[in-house]
Amino acid sequence: MEQADYPYARTKLAQLKADYQVDVLADWGDDGGNWSPGSWTKAELDRLENAICLMAGVMGGNEGFVRNLGGVTVRKADIGHHAGEALSHRVSFSTKRTFSAWTVVHEFGHAWDANHGWRLSRLLEKYTGGFTSPPLSLLKRLLRLSDSGVFNSEKKPGRYGRRAGCNQAGYFYGDRPSGSNWNFNRVEDFAESVAMYIGWERGNDLSDHAHKRITRYQLQNLVEDPLFHVIDNWTDYASCFYPENGDYTKTKRWQFVDDLLNGKLKIPG
Ligand SMILES: [Zn+2]
Repeated sequence: MEQADYPYARTKLAQLKADYQVDVLADWGDDGGNWSPGSWTKAELDRLENAICLMAGVMGGNEGFVRNLGGVTVRKADIGHHAGEALSHRVSFSTKRTFSAWTVVHEFGHAWDANHGWRLSRLLEKYTGGFTSPPLSLLKRLLRLSDSGVFNSEKKPGRYGRRAGCNQAGYFYGDRPSGSNWNFNRVEDFAESVAMYIGWERGNDLSDHAHKRITRYQLQNLVEDPLFHVIDNWTDYASCFYPENGDYTKTKRWQFVDDLLNGKLKIPG
């Protein structure tokens, strides 16, 4: 944060607190007469606010956002190679690189789930017809029925562990998520489903990312996708991930998030 942007940042933090009960821990400021810039930029504060505003927009406004999230503290921290991390009431972004609007919504999606004891992702798993079974997953891998190695994914086309149950968690996703890999599980599924819902065909900061997550399955095998720059057998994976007529609103995940936001689902206590 530049010293010249200090008043702007102070106002922005006060707004985030007042509107969304979001506390950003400032790592910039005056340090004994010397300006300490910290790791945040003015652009990142704007990006954070815009992404939160998109979430509030589908949650029925600021009150809906505060009700679902219950207050969140946001900080920058050394979190290894992750771009972001989330727990109940706490979201962290990496000090090593910047974050995207997608990452903000993804991490706040986790915080929303966490604020409900991670029951929202369990509800998604059930709603979409998925289940988690590490033994069945191991069996599938041992029998060489998986698109991964036995104990890890392989960094080559057709071996990233994208098929149902071919991941570390033993997560057999139901219906069609927008993607999957070795790290996929119901919690990641929920966060990605929230971001997909908010971005899909709405012309906002998430929309290009959401669109490219789906259109990569129209690529030929062994082509590099323009979003993650990964070479994979996209045509082969279309049957797992590409929605009916390329329309993500036809998926059970889109419907789940829509039902959840419209109060049509009973969240178990
Ligand atoms: Zn995540």
